[in-house]
Amino acid sequence: MQDKLYDCIILGGGPAGLSAGLYCARANLSCAIIDKCTLGGTPANYCEIENYLGFNKIRSFELCEKFEEHINCFNIEKFTCEEIMSTDLLSEIKTIKTDSNTYKAKSVIIALGASAKKLNIKGEEENIGKGVSYCAVCDGAFYKDKTVCVIGGGNSAVEEALYLTKFAKKVYLIHRRNTLRADKIVQERLKNNKKIELILNSIPIEIIAQNKVNSIKIKNTITQEEQNLKTDGVFPYIGIKPNVELFSNQVKLDEEGFIITDKNMETNIKGVYATGDIRNTPLRQVITAVSDGAIAGVEVSKYLIHQKETVKK
Ligand code: NAP
Repeated sequence: MQDKLYDCIILGGGPAGLSAGLYCARANLSCAIIDKCTLGGTPANYCEIENYLGFNKIRSFELCEKFEEHINCFNIEKFTCEEIMSTDLLSEIKTIKTDSNTYKAKSVIIALGASAKKLNIKGEEENIGKGVSYCAVCDGAFYKDKTVCVIGGGNSAVEEALYLTKFAKKVYLIHRRNTLRADKIVQERLKNNKKIELILNSIPIEIIAQNKVNSIKIKNTITQEEQNLKTDGVFPYIGIKPNVELFSNQVKLDEEGFIITDKNMETNIKGVYATGDIRNTPLRQVITAVSDGAIAGVEVSKYLIHQKETVKK
């Protein structure tokens, strides 16, 4: 157990957490960032980002590297590759237990983001790593001259389908409705990409494999017709679910499971803030995560000043 009592501990080292760290450090707070992986967060998985102001087009890992370089200019402790096992956020002094340490802090910023939703169909779970992947950037290169299919109709599905055409000879994009939800600009690129075949009004019902994935069974939602598509890989991109398991009985969640905050990023618990994809926000982008982090950092600083003044009285 660490003896140090931090002003603020930030859970998660993605854009929201790093930005919160920057603002805490600039307010002279003692702070630490805990992350089970390296710093950078989910955007390190996106291929290219072209809607982060100031960068017309930047590879996402480069943007994350820039974030990290910036953070390294400040006095922020970093505990990476530590998995958070439990939290006590309700007490005035918050406790965070990881697989290797226990940390105490006067305030906490939750920036753990969200994870890929599963299809929950037969053949999915058992073929992860054998043809089922949730990360085109990590695994795309294994599909050189092969056929893959992407499931979903949002920005992630369309962008990752486009990315996969760098390797695969054919990419099916399977979407359950007849219109995509992705931004118009990426839909235009999709239309112009000859390697992608769009299959609408269809849902996957089974992933079939013999040692590794070889086809996917899909069903047309209008005709109810089923068909087997030959594919070497399946990339589900059907949205995200917030990583709230460690706090769901402490912080208030909305009906979809995202953490409810006020405009200052504060949760229902005094001294506990949430930022980025984990909170109920109308827009989940790198730029909004960074903005959330900035607000939380400033608000934590105000909160701690207020606490000090209350103790003095
Ligand atoms: P999303 O926008 O929620 O899209 C999920 C897609 O999966 C939807 O098309 C949905 O269909 C479909 N879907 C959901 N459940 C399904 C199921 N069980 N079976 C089949 N299809 C299913 O999720 P996302 O694309 O992962 O994006 C998450 C957030 O990150 C969004 O806010 C997105 O804008 C943002 N993002 C932004 C960028 C960017 O700006 N460059 C890149 C990636 C992600 P319906 O359309 O019918 O609901």
